[in-house]
Amino acid sequence: MINISKNAVEDLFSSLSSFNSCRGYFLNPDTAFTKSLIESLLINDDRYGYQACPCRLASGERSLDLDIICPCDYRDSDVAEFGACYCGLYVSRQLAQTGEPIKPIPERRPTKQDRLKSSNKKEIAMSEESNSIKYPIWRCEVCGYLCARDEAPDTCPICGVSRDRFAKVNIVTVAAK
Ligand code: SF4
Repeated sequence: MINISKNAVEDLFSSLSSFNSCRGYFLNPDTAFTKSLIESLLINDDRYGYQACPCRLASGERSLDLDIICPCDYRDSDVAEFGACYCGLYVSRQLAQTGEPIKPIPERRPTKQDRLKSSNKKEIAMSEESNSIKYPIWRCEVCGYLCARDEAPDTCPICGVSRDRFAKVNIVTVAAK
């Protein structure tokens, strides 16, 4: 059994609160609930070496679980559509202010088979070259931040996720009319 200290939960809670508050992301205002999810993130960190989503079954292999490392690739879409992420750790500005209850949120994560198919597509796209764009374009899979540079940044300047959460964007060149 993994024991997480109260201090570790408080530390992560306060660093997530301060990091997100100035970026337009909001933690669930139900502090007890939020801290219980944070404790689960820390348990998963201890178990797998990364903060896998507390509400999903992780494989234990980082490369296969990238999309569900918190914040997951599905957070922003779920918050926009349902007012909260799948677990309810992150909520919309409105829910953060009103404390309205969260409704059940359907799972947006594709099946394993579909995820593998889409990661194969990314590899094919990466091997293509464009003559007109000087640098590769990278997209943060969590928040959609785009940048053009040789390598993806170490950390996303918007949502704070690590470099391995970036995907190279396939540039399709279209002939001028
Ligand atoms: S953002 Fe929410 S749904 Fe996504 S991994 Fe974190 S806790 Fe889970």
